[in-house]
Amino acid sequence: MEKQQAERCRRVVLVAYPLQGHLNPLLDLANILHSRGFSITIVHPKFNFPNPANHPDFQFVPISDGISSWDVSPSNLVGLASAINTNCREPFRECLSQMMQQQQQEEKQHDQVVCIIYDFLMHFAETVANQMSLPSIIFRTSNAAAMLALCNLPRLKAEGFNCLQDSTSNELVPGLHPLRFKDLPTASMGNLENLLQLVAVVCNIRTSSAIILNTVDCLEYSSLRQLQEHYSVPLFTLGPLHKMALAKPINLVIKDDNTCIEWLEKKAPNSVIYVSLGSIARMDQNELTEMAWGLANSDQPFLWVIRPGLGGGSDAHLPEGFQELTGNRGCIVKWAPQKDVLAHPAVGGFWSHCGWNSALESISEGVPMICKPYFVDQTVNARYLTREWGIGIELDEVVQRTNVAKAIRRLLVEEEGSRMRQKVIALKDQIKDCIKDGGSSYNSLNKLVQFISSF
Ligand code: UDP
Repeated sequence: MEKQQAERCRRVVLVAYPLQGHLNPLLDLANILHSRGFSITIVHPKFNFPNPANHPDFQFVPISDGISSWDVSPSNLVGLASAINTNCREPFRECLSQMMQQQQQEEKQHDQVVCIIYDFLMHFAETVANQMSLPSIIFRTSNAAAMLALCNLPRLKAEGFNCLQDSTSNELVPGLHPLRFKDLPTASMGNLENLLQLVAVVCNIRTSSAIILNTVDCLEYSSLRQLQEHYSVPLFTLGPLHKMALAKPINLVIKDDNTCIEWLEKKAPNSVIYVSLGSIARMDQNELTEMAWGLANSDQPFLWVIRPGLGGGSDAHLPEGFQELTGNRGCIVKWAPQKDVLAHPAVGGFWSHCGWNSALESISEGVPMICKPYFVDQTVNARYLTREWGIGIELDEVVQRTNVAKAIRRLLVEEEGSRMRQKVIALKDQIKDCIKDGGSSYNSLNKLVQFISSF
């Protein structure tokens, strides 16, 4: 306790990227550091940010981003990162220098800013921190394999591979086993040159002193070793952060609909397929119709998240007769309390877009998956889930009702699914050990706290 009070005088500034899949783990990290005695400031663009009232212990500082609205679709993601980096640099510099001035004027011995931890997409924060002689640490919200894949894109280009043209190829990528060209994080990203420009910045750590990753040694030992060979700074693997932090996430999109938990209560163990494509992925009406009939034809109970915007510009329409046919076998919500859903004994499988948070949440609860990735790191994650860890079924690129129904039954009813469940439960147990006293994530957190305290 005394130690915590002593450390409370040290303030860590975390710079957040305004998308759900980035924000959740950053807030988990903030919670963990706060519980270790650090004061917390969250600096965030005004765009797409929730009410900070859920975190009364943190100071939230909005900075101007020059963005009034943004269509958060895959082909716009590189543009969003670039606009935020251009527009937020100056406001961040002003905000940080005000904090430093205040610190000096008040001659506070306490609450000194000791370091900046920034989401890897907020790379302007490193430039500003460096100018102010403050140490900075990069926070990676995706996993080590996805980071390696991204950082290898320039090499592949130099070796003459056209990663966009090869994006349907089943050929293995040299030096990136087990990834195929079609698994590279280039899918739906639009212009490769723009992506490579972003990669050149985000894969270069510049003056940052360390990298924090939301991953676990037991899942990614080999990728982490390769990353460590590449970067000379310490890598802190603290995942799964949501298990280390045990805090409620805050939702950017829409409120949790908890009625689905009551619905789950009435279902048999391992009988329900949970379907959610995260906060950004979109599907067209044809895909949604095929998905719906696949769920109907599977004869299994399903919990399906159809968030506003899932169907792109227009609202998604369920096919005529679908709800009458499926009745109480299906539960459809706009946003689910995903971690509680995955922890529920009735859930036997997760049909996912394979965002890294969703993948980690599923593995942490021992739930096998149906993998239908859409873009960026999702394709890498899907390959690891299906091929490397053997806990997911790969769904065909073109969603067709017969294949959907077959995949659901393979996972929930057939022997293949039971085998995957056993494997993922074994991984869940390994993860539990990693976050326990003496485990790899637990030790890594202690080292990170020491590292920040040494600044
Ligand atoms: N999520 C949720 N309810 C939903 C859908 C998603 O709480 O109905 C959460 C999920 O638990 C995860 C995050 O939203 O923490 C999505 O992050 P992920 O990396 O999986 O995907 P992204 O949204 O970034 O594509």
